[in-house]
Amino acid sequence: MKTKIVATLGPASSSKELIREMVKAGTDVFRINFSHGSYEQHAQNIESIHCVNKELKTHIPVLADLQGPKIRIGQVKNNRIFLTKGNEIDITTEELTGDEKKISINYESFAKDVNPGEDVLLDDGKMLLKVLSTDKVNLVKARIEQGGVLSSKKGVNLPNTSLSLPSLTEKDLKDVEFIVNQRVQWIGLSFVRSATDLIELRHRIAQYHVNQKPWIMAKIEKPEALDDIDNIIKEADGLMVARGDLGVEIPLQQVPLIQKQLIKKCLQESKPIIVATQMMEGMMTNIRPTRAEVNDVANSVMDGADALMLSGETSVGEYPVQVVETMQKIISHVESFEDIYYKHNIPRHREERFISDSILYAACEMAHQVQAKAIAAMTHSGYSAIKVSSQRPKASIYVFTNNHGLLSTLNLVWGVKGFYYDKFISTDHTIEDIKYRLCKEGHVAEGDLIINIASTPIEEQGQTNMLKLGRVC
Ligand code: PGA
Ligand code: MN
Repeated sequence: MKTKIVATLGPASSSKELIREMVKAGTDVFRINFSHGSYEQHAQNIESIHCVNKELKTHIPVLADLQGPKIRIGQVKNNRIFLTKGNEIDITTEELTGDEKKISINYESFAKDVNPGEDVLLDDGKMLLKVLSTDKVNLVKARIEQGGVLSSKKGVNLPNTSLSLPSLTEKDLKDVEFIVNQRVQWIGLSFVRSATDLIELRHRIAQYHVNQKPWIMAKIEKPEALDDIDNIIKEADGLMVARGDLGVEIPLQQVPLIQKQLIKKCLQESKPIIVATQMMEGMMTNIRPTRAEVNDVANSVMDGADALMLSGETSVGEYPVQVVETMQKIISHVESFEDIYYKHNIPRHREERFISDSILYAACEMAHQVQAKAIAAMTHSGYSAIKVSSQRPKASIYVFTNNHGLLSTLNLVWGVKGFYYDKFISTDHTIEDIKYRLCKEGHVAEGDLIINIASTPIEEQGQTNMLKLGRVC
């Protein structure tokens, strides 16, 4: 299996037993959503993942997903009010229990930032309000264009409004501290608007003196992010096509092509990318997915995503293990389709990486030509692993490193399987060692062609500069 599965933990899956079952079913990454739950619960889940990793000898990382500037309405009467089309409703920043006439919102400068004529979408776009007027202090009057049942704390999207909210809220900053101290491998930033949001998060993370810093995943769910996408891809360590909010913030028919474009760009720039939200939504309550969901999963694999994400399906759904199993089956079948392999992306000439980029590219081209069974690489920073992966070789990608944290980080990346290795005697010795290990563990067999990439001389731990083609014997 090449395409990875990200499963979100929640009340339906937060036990060591279920975590173990989900890993056995094919989960490669666990996502912890910081919009919900307490630090105590998060710490417990992280501890369970550590235990399961030890027990099953896996390297499953955690993706800690920051809530970001998520706007929500406040409490409403009886946790259920009815919004009737054509009626008017007040929205205030004062804290109160809302009713049919007035609801509250958690966004302080809401009245200042919105303008008459702008849209206010509620609960994933299920309800639509149009702003009629604002006092620019704390009260906005709106007309209900699309009604429905509204419960407490539902999300609000303001697709036409330019928000003055910071990208990292006070809660996010506290969460960052917790996340960094927990040695989590990936951190997701929600509602990224520009590359500077990522620079700010990186700066925050740098203030903590831990040797393993999380890699940053930029969640693409705002139209502004699409305008700055090239810089965002450069600045981020990975991207997420966060289709839930994205499909509310932009016309939803645009989401499929954006998914394809973002994946294509990420493959060119060698940045891992996750496709997220509603992939197997039907399996929250049904044992079988809908045919459309099966197609969505299959098409995302064919688009070239590194990983596919489950949210509600595993966090609150009825079948957290079965949904992973089913997704795994679909992925595995689609990966028998030859067209998904070998992208032949010629690397851009970058002087500082010219030698390693050329070797890594050539390794994949050669793997294609000779139908090698495996590409084995030493990696210090993860660069070689990600570069090789982004060519989407059919050959298995085995990476060896003496950095435990990095092994987990790379587990999110398409096709990458990591091994701990800490002997640095000579390049020849390492290559033989690697072959022996892969053979002993049954990953390659006698007669298979294997491509080794490494840097020589080994003690310099420099950029990849050599490639060797050989047979396992
Ligand atoms: P969320 O992000 O689940 O944190 O909202 C994913 C999405 O919006 O698709
Ligand atoms: Mn979102």
